[in-house]
Amino acid sequence: DAVAPPPTTVRSLPGPAFDAAVAVLALEREIERGLLRAEFELFLQPIVALRDRRLAGFEALIRWNHPVRGLLAPAAFIPVAESSGLVVQITDRMLREAVSAVRVLLAARGAGEGCADEPLFVSVNVSGHDLVQPGFADGVMQILAEAALPPHHLKLEVTESMLMKDPARAGSILDTCRRHGMGIAVDDFGTGYSSLSHLSTLPITTLKIDRCFVQAMLGDPTSRKIVNTIRLLARELAIPIVAEGIEREAEAAALDAIGCEYGQGYLFGRPMPVTEAIVFLRAMPVPRIQALRAYA
Ligand code: C2E
Ligand code: MG
Ligand code: MG
Ligand code: MG
Repeated sequence: DAVAPPPTTVRSLPGPAFDAAVAVLALEREIERGLLRAEFELFLQPIVALRDRRLAGFEALIRWNHPVRGLLAPAAFIPVAESSGLVVQITDRMLREAVSAVRVLLAARGAGEGCADEPLFVSVNVSGHDLVQPGFADGVMQILAEAALPPHHLKLEVTESMLMKDPARAGSILDTCRRHGMGIAVDDFGTGYSSLSHLSTLPITTLKIDRCFVQAMLGDPTSRKIVNTIRLLARELAIPIVAEGIEREAEAAALDAIGCEYGQGYLFGRPMPVTEAIVFLRAMPVPRIQALRAYA
């Protein structure tokens, strides 16, 4: 019996997988070029105290001012930056820009009556790659020292999944950063897999509740229960909470009622260039919800 030859796969090569690999390599080269030409830009999104709507700090969010494709959101390039390791250079750039932005914002702060009494902070997203670089903590300290900025103005945002890659190593690097006075925020909390027992061993100073719970909580009792449970956990650990992705007044009110300390979202302000953040901060009114709405 003649057995039919297996269908040839040669004809389908290069094929979609090959094309995708080429696209990834091309994007890596473009990111390298973008770094050399300083095309990555720091945007800042306000974080406010939910109780009185005063400005507590900003999250640093990267944008790529791409010469051809226009302003790109992180989803378009951060995954490739992470898989290639280029994200380490991106973090370095963002840390430098964020730290120098805080200096400018602190100088402008006197005029902003609606700023909270605590030290103004900027929160920078770091990746799993950063957390396994042996010199990471020293590098950040050096950046702070060069700008003469005390470390308590800087928070590092890490996701649960990043922490889980190499928990011991990430934990020890974060311990060093924390001992130097930086804040440590766990980002997108509730979407990862970290065990609570493990969390309590990390030097965490803030929990950020993921946007998916915030946006579902008004209509969905389960999401509301999850937010409530995170709130209880955080209180037990004496860690304040930032709720992400607040778009509606009713969400802010519900989160405040649950006892979430801080909020971030389009209701309070979108991510904006540093020049706009300075204007935003200077214009922070004495806390009044109506006045703040103008910036959302
Ligand atoms: P993230 O750290 O959880 O940042 C919050 C994201 O939610 C931002 O998206 C922000 O623009 C968006 N957001 C804030 N408020 C609202 C809202 O009210 N509604 C909605 N629909 N969205 C809101 P963005 O800027 O596109 O960043 C996406 C993710 O990319 C970030 O999520 C973070 O994981 C990553 N990322 C951003 N900048 C950096 C960076 O400098 N380095 C690294 N490694 N990752 C970054
Ligand atoms: Mg973040
Ligand atoms: Mg987040
Ligand atoms: Mg998120």
